[in-house]
Amino acid sequence: MNRSSELFRKAQKYLPGGVNSPVRAFKSVNRDPLFIASGAGSKIRDVDGNEYIDYVGSWGPLILGHAHPEVVEYLQSVTESGTSFGAPTELEILIAEKIVQMVPSVEMVRMVNSGTEATMSAIRLARGFTGRDKIIKFEGCYHGHGDSFLIKAGSGALTFGEPNSPGVPAALAKETLTAGFNDLDSVERLFESFKNQIAAVIVEPIAGNMGVIPPADGFLQGLRDLCTQNGALLIFDEVMTGFRVHAGGAQSLYNVQPDLTTMGKVIGGGLPAAAYGGKREIMEMVSPAGAVYQAGTLSGNPLAMAAGLKTLEIISRPGFFEKLNKKANWFFSELAHYVENQNFPLSLNYVNSMGCLFFKPGEVRNFNEATQSDTELFARYFGGMLDKGIYLAPSQFEAMFISAAHSEEDLQNTLHAGREVLEKLF
Ligand code: PLP
Repeated sequence: MNRSSELFRKAQKYLPGGVNSPVRAFKSVNRDPLFIASGAGSKIRDVDGNEYIDYVGSWGPLILGHAHPEVVEYLQSVTESGTSFGAPTELEILIAEKIVQMVPSVEMVRMVNSGTEATMSAIRLARGFTGRDKIIKFEGCYHGHGDSFLIKAGSGALTFGEPNSPGVPAALAKETLTAGFNDLDSVERLFESFKNQIAAVIVEPIAGNMGVIPPADGFLQGLRDLCTQNGALLIFDEVMTGFRVHAGGAQSLYNVQPDLTTMGKVIGGGLPAAAYGGKREIMEMVSPAGAVYQAGTLSGNPLAMAAGLKTLEIISRPGFFEKLNKKANWFFSELAHYVENQNFPLSLNYVNSMGCLFFKPGEVRNFNEATQSDTELFARYFGGMLDKGIYLAPSQFEAMFISAAHSEEDLQNTLHAGREVLEKLF
């Protein structure tokens, strides 16, 4: 038995399922997870000494790749001055200023520790601001594990929320209404049925948790208009898309301004940091400026702020996104051409450096279409790629991330491996 599998056995004694976050367990791809020893640039190395080209990037944060020298150096220098004070530091202002400069709709921010905290806090703020309780989310969008978000739609397109985890109170779940991604009519119907009751619509502007699904033309602007007409706040959950698809997030790419934005992943440069922010008049309701309570022992932690700030500085340099996006679009379009020429029953969605190969033919525009994918076939593809040294997210419904550290050789090798694995599958 290899060392990863040995460690996984041991981990299961002490950690539920052997991991600290479910999808890491490789359950849906019928393998033992790899235990990682180190990472540098585009590569990770497992505890058995195998090297992989990494397209998970810690689930999105590592847009610069692993152990970027400037981030590591800055982090080391900040660490020497102490790890946490629970008191204000200048780094918190610097990162807030940077975020405000980069994200068009954000005038003020509150730093938190995880994307989950950011989305939970943003809906509390939206409820406090509007004096309403209900929220609309989209089927297949993930906003972290807050109670209000662990809701699946029933068989109908529109429904009262039902919890899809034991432990979520039914009374709270029914405040979450579910609409169809890319289906403005379903949102409009909810606004009609629940007049003056909806505090906010929360959406991943590019869905990244049911594979990758871009917004249809006019979808985001349509949400903007419906929220404005109905006095509800529009929240873009840019935990995945923020500082990823564009320096200013999906809101810059599609030119639609939400009222509140949640951010995570890249913002912490690989350390635990996230944020929510938006218009001043809304953000000034957050405690202690206002009455909506939200706090955190480690919020604004100096190490997380340092890694995040340095990462944001690097990605703001001239040409950073042009170069990354050009490389990523080249890679994905090569893959798309190949799949199309071979007539494989696959479908590729991508937006700049995030993409997903669905194991189903035809377009994927919503949750229903995404879940028609053949997950068994995906599992075999995943295993084949892993055996060739390509580390993809171990689930059909996760994004593949390209970082600034991926070289042309990495991408060529990945395309080559992909062709070999797919030819064996079909
Ligand atoms: N929102 C989105 C869009 C996400 O992709 C995620 C995590 O993948 C979250 C929120 C939750 O963030 P975290 O895992 O940091 O709590």
